[in-house]
Amino acid sequence: MALQLQGETRALNSTATQPAVRLSGVRRHYGDVRAVDGVDLEIAPGEFFTMLGPSGSGKTTTLRLIAGFEQPDEGRIELDGKDLTRVPPYLRDVNTVFQDYALFPHMTVAENVEYGLRVKGVPRRVRRSKVEEALKMVRLPGLGSRRPVQLSGGQRQRVALARALVNSPAVLLLDEPLGALDLKLRQEMQIELKRIQREMSDVGMTFIYVTHDQEEALTMSDRLAVFNDGRIEQVGTPAEVYEHPATEFVAGFVGVSNVLERDGRRFTVRPEKIRVNDENGPGERGRIRDVVYVGMVTRYIVELDSGGELVVVRQNLETSSQEALEARGKRVRLEWRPEHTYEIKEGNES
Ligand code: ADP
Ligand code: MG
Repeated sequence: MALQLQGETRALNSTATQPAVRLSGVRRHYGDVRAVDGVDLEIAPGEFFTMLGPSGSGKTTTLRLIAGFEQPDEGRIELDGKDLTRVPPYLRDVNTVFQDYALFPHMTVAENVEYGLRVKGVPRRVRRSKVEEALKMVRLPGLGSRRPVQLSGGQRQRVALARALVNSPAVLLLDEPLGALDLKLRQEMQIELKRIQREMSDVGMTFIYVTHDQEEALTMSDRLAVFNDGRIEQVGTPAEVYEHPATEFVAGFVGVSNVLERDGRRFTVRPEKIRVNDENGPGERGRIRDVVYVGMVTRYIVELDSGGELVVVRQNLETSSQEALEARGKRVRLEWRPEHTYEIKEGNES
């Protein structure tokens, strides 16, 4: 009866417009290192939210703070509107998937997946059907009796995912879960993860995903936060962050930086938004300093007469590699639409 009541309370609360996760003024220092240096964040229920940033920027620490493995020095952590700052991990409705899988090697796949349910005292019969369901969800049905060593890296990552999903947490935390996989497998798993997340968002499960890979962040997220040095530089949808980077750091980390200074104002324009015209066409004058042929596209690095350099990307529709490379040293004009430029503010010093 008590359990039933708790369930009802949660259902009631989650219908309100509380964010699934809210961080306010969160700080975590290790000696002199400011791992997380004043982070404010609100993540909506059912959202696929990514924390993107270079190594050491504080992503894992932020995730561990949400999970409760770490305590903040300052600030507040709320889940579904409730202050859980001092609540231990096992009392938070959260599960974590780690990059190194952290499977128990002496247990079978099924035993690994049901572990959380067993700890909670869920009866065997219920466990069995939930494990089966979770393995089906990650496309590993029938592998329950194998041991982790008998699986490939990709399959192990799926087991780690099933082990978290089986608990139906309100929030699923994923710390570079695909980092150990090779590129092709990683791209396949990205699609799989998105499918699973879409299915789970129907029941309001929130995904918080950590990666240092900008392409991964742009393809998978509903919204992302760009981390730098323990702080968030920008939060937005992939299109907002890519097309309108708020700071020079974001412009450089998410894509090619392409920052120009004109009349004391700094702005950025993305390489694919720039048209290369010949010398007599419209646009800013410059000279192609370098050409990089990359198969699908060619990258031109153009020095502008009025200062600065821009990278331009062109699809190799008709150009051959030979033609592309011969463009080196050529005088050109670069043209872009004003609405494709975006002003960059000075680094965030707040
Ligand atoms: P990321 O996941 O973005 O690579 P982390 O959150 O792991 O970054 O680390 C942020 C900073 O905090 C780094 O400088 C790291 O060395 C430091 N750090 C993280 N955990 C600890 C710890 N347990 N003790 C000391 N320093 C730590
Ligand atoms: Mg990390």
